[in-house]
Amino acid sequence: MATGLSSILEKKEYDRSDILAMLQCSEEESPILYRRAVTVRDRYIGNSIYLRGLIEYSNICGKNCLYCGIRRENHKVDRYTLTNDEVIEAALTAYRLNFGSIAIQSGENPSTAYVDNMEELIRTIRKLTRGQLGITLSLGEQTRETYQRWFNAGAHRYLLRIEAASEALYRRVHPDDDLHRYHRRLECLKIIQETGYQTGTGVMVGLPYQTMTHLADDLIFMRDFNIDMCGMGPFIEHSDTPLGARGTDNLFLKERFNLTLRMIAIIRIIMKDINIVASTAMQTIDPAGREKAISSGANVVMPNLTPDKYRPGYRIYEGKPGFNEINKTNISGLNFDLIPGTTLGLGVWGDTPHYNRRLSGR
Ligand code: SF4
Repeated sequence: MATGLSSILEKKEYDRSDILAMLQCSEEESPILYRRAVTVRDRYIGNSIYLRGLIEYSNICGKNCLYCGIRRENHKVDRYTLTNDEVIEAALTAYRLNFGSIAIQSGENPSTAYVDNMEELIRTIRKLTRGQLGITLSLGEQTRETYQRWFNAGAHRYLLRIEAASEALYRRVHPDDDLHRYHRRLECLKIIQETGYQTGTGVMVGLPYQTMTHLADDLIFMRDFNIDMCGMGPFIEHSDTPLGARGTDNLFLKERFNLTLRMIAIIRIIMKDINIVASTAMQTIDPAGREKAISSGANVVMPNLTPDKYRPGYRIYEGKPGFNEINKTNISGLNFDLIPGTTLGLGVWGDTPHYNRRLSGR
């Protein structure tokens, strides 16, 4: 006889109560959830794990999110911006190592100089790599014109995390001012999608004030928004932020980690053919965190290509690894003994089939 979880997994469509039940399944049942997610991934998009070489371009940010280590008012951070030569060298490293794609991430900066320079960088990288290196951007909220210019220059994926799909929760973890408006974030996500990017979003798992219902609604939000990519991670306090001022609690970190595995598995099961990141934040809590995320349905990792000397400056949460996890014999840094049945997808962009399906309205 099917258990509660097994009978839910037999369904073709999942409502809110199904999603809540999956989130709250017992520890004994959770491997069933993870195994199903892997089966769905392998069936709909294959067993390849794709790479996005991460370039943390600048830690200068105009925003002040209450959880983030590089928020504007953290004056303990040494601010930096990579030179264009450093960005291009990192991109060429990804190209030479056959990564297929890079992801450029940065604090939010809407200045004309920043927008112009990024456009130039995107064009240069595309030219130097003969259009073969995919470019994902994660550069925050920008104007429609800026999103369009960067898209025209050759970027084709954009990740903007909603962080919390509930407006009430969003407001509790962001300052109450015009720079941090939930509806503006939502509007930006829509503009990104309308511009033509493969569009990604995600949430933090284990935020203060967050409930299981919030998490279920986060998953429903992502499904209803019809996203192409998902990047989720456990909330990890940073002691130099308002939300981290009370310190960290390792016991709860493990719970957040396990809940994130469930979130990954469920988004895989309900959306099937999207790209899902196994985040570095998972690895911060558990050395095998990324492999466990892959064994729960994720299919993308982002090895860090930021020059070593800048890495301590991009601690958005405490304990973020600053080490160089890649080497010539293992460019992903993954332990494939822990993820049998998967393979590295090298030299390709690793696009999601969901994107083309969304565009064609199927
Ligand atoms: S989360 Fe992003 S937008 Fe908010 S302070 Fe950090 S870098 Fe800036």
